[in-house]
Amino acid sequence: MTFRLTYATMFNPPPEMHTQFEAALAKLEATFGQRHPLFVDGADREPAAWGEKRTPIDTDLVLGEFPLADAQDVDAAMRAAHAAFPAWRAMPVAERAALLRKAGDLMQQRVYEIAAALTLEVGKNRMEALGEAQETVDFFHHYADDFEQHHGFDHPLPNDPIDGVVSRNRSVMRPYGAWVVIAPFNFPFALAGGPVAAALVTGNTVVFKSATDTPWSGRLLAEVLRDAGFPRGTFNYLSGAGREAGEALARHPLTAGITFTGSVPVGRNLLQQMAGGAYPRPCIAEMGGKNPCIVTEHADLDRAAAGIARSAFGMGGQKCSALSRLYVHEAVADALIEKLNAQIDAINIGDARRREHWLGPVVNAAAYDNYARYVTNLNAGGAKLLRGGKQLREGDAARGYYVEPVLAEADLDHPLWKHEMFLPIVMLHRYRDRGEAMRWANDTDMGLTAGFYGAPDEVPWFQDHIEAGVTYANRPQGATTGAWPGYQPFGGWKGSGSTGKAIASFYYLQQYLREQSRTVVE
Ligand code: GLU
Repeated sequence: MTFRLTYATMFNPPPEMHTQFEAALAKLEATFGQRHPLFVDGADREPAAWGEKRTPIDTDLVLGEFPLADAQDVDAAMRAAHAAFPAWRAMPVAERAALLRKAGDLMQQRVYEIAAALTLEVGKNRMEALGEAQETVDFFHHYADDFEQHHGFDHPLPNDPIDGVVSRNRSVMRPYGAWVVIAPFNFPFALAGGPVAAALVTGNTVVFKSATDTPWSGRLLAEVLRDAGFPRGTFNYLSGAGREAGEALARHPLTAGITFTGSVPVGRNLLQQMAGGAYPRPCIAEMGGKNPCIVTEHADLDRAAAGIARSAFGMGGQKCSALSRLYVHEAVADALIEKLNAQIDAINIGDARRREHWLGPVVNAAAYDNYARYVTNLNAGGAKLLRGGKQLREGDAARGYYVEPVLAEADLDHPLWKHEMFLPIVMLHRYRDRGEAMRWANDTDMGLTAGFYGAPDEVPWFQDHIEAGVTYANRPQGATTGAWPGYQPFGGWKGSGSTGKAIASFYYLQQYLREQSRTVVE
């Protein structure tokens, strides 16, 4: 390893990054068709049923066979995590943090292989894939450092003399137990690894379930943690059908808490389930986005076009952070559209394994079909398609789920302004007065990310009024995407996040702990 990837290096990668990525890809291609088991109670576990995983890059290509976990697998994993909890929580903070760092180091050694698996499994381009793998390494180190620096959030309080008797007081933060992590397909490694690291360092044990489309990266996470030497049962890995396994985990009596990242309906359902049972249990739900960007007449339009295209179309718009609503001052709207067209012209669509392709396929047949439906709906609702709208699968040499980026101008009553599409589709509307642009931007049940391009003295107005957990102003590398641990805490307001505490922020780890006040009279 000769360099460390950061968000910045994504824009100017050194050449050896490409050769190493390609070598890792070849290594994984040589394993195509193999079986990858579950990992439960410190050992591989054969499931009752296996499913074939194909790549969206070319649906003729089978990557391997992966487990379809059933209720028995869920139960075995929960029991293992529960049994491992007392010893794990008793381990000194420094030892748990050291194991996290070891896992981070092992992940760093396998960063190209992990990235190659991500490209194959969901079709993200190599830079996005490497970014995600590296981000996960950083999560492991970040949470280890954070927990140690705060001494496990354990602190003495003033002594309390009453009638000459002195009470010694202390606040300690204690883990909950067997914690379930349910990850999404779009950042299957980072949004698994981050919460897993957080749950483990705080002394919880973990059952992690990957998304239906992404069992391979899940298995790689399990291998890294196995090799780092986490004690048996502290980390368990399941893959399988999304909704059923997720609900079985939420219903399980040994589930002490959940971190879920995914859609609003599934997140709400889990929140409700976790509120029920014998007593309510914590549920950190990171849900969708319908992220706006406001461009004023004072904006640098080159920057704006670059940042908008990257955030709207990167990974086919399949990010919670993706930009999907664009409000542009009427004086600059035509000029911005022209620049956006030039950005879209420069987007190479195709087999994401290849260096020259910036935009790979969408993740699966359902997303591909949704695309056609939304394009029809845009037209039916009176939107004007300024750009794109074609599915590209038929006739393409690689039979994958490729689609064109879409830019559509629409009236404000179009129903798709309020609907998360999770595809490379941006809707645009012109405004006269920035106050009305802000009202439209906030007219949503979501509140994850938001972007702004305008004069520097307009930025505080944007930040003070926008209802979003993550804000970016005048950023060419991404109008609404690209948060990095330690730099941009990442969490949603309103329907986008259930707790208002962002990933990798000062407040994040505390969500995995419950406070115990300790008063002792000697
Ligand atoms: N952290 C990613 C970003 O800032 C987005 C994660 C997500 O889409 O859930 O772009």
